[in-house]
Amino acid sequence: MPWLILLGVLLLSGTSGFKWLADSFLILFALVLLLPVVAWFGLQWWLKKNLVEAPCPVCGYEFTGFASTNCACPNCGEPLQVVQGQFQRFTPAGTIDVEAVEVEGKSLED
Ligand SMILES: [Zn+2]
Repeated sequence: MPWLILLGVLLLSGTSGFKWLADSFLILFALVLLLPVVAWFGLQWWLKKNLVEAPCPVCGYEFTGFASTNCACPNCGEPLQVVQGQFQRFTPAGTIDVEAVEVEGKSLED
């Protein structure tokens, strides 16, 4: 008689000596069933923790980016960083944006 059938008979007989074995099999079975669910929720949790979905502070375009890395807005190309789940311009606070002013070319000939 193969040992597996013997084991099955012993498990089915429900003797107290093998109850722990039946229990451990049930636990194992439950773990196998639960593992994908746990993995799915773990992935969701990880994504929620690591992915940020927020609007671009410059153009308002809503997109998803990784919280751990700096990214650029796919719409306007502005370099952005993630601060407390929101996108912020990469330029540090206090930096005054210098507007590029076009200076009209003056002729030196005058
Ligand atoms: Zn943008």
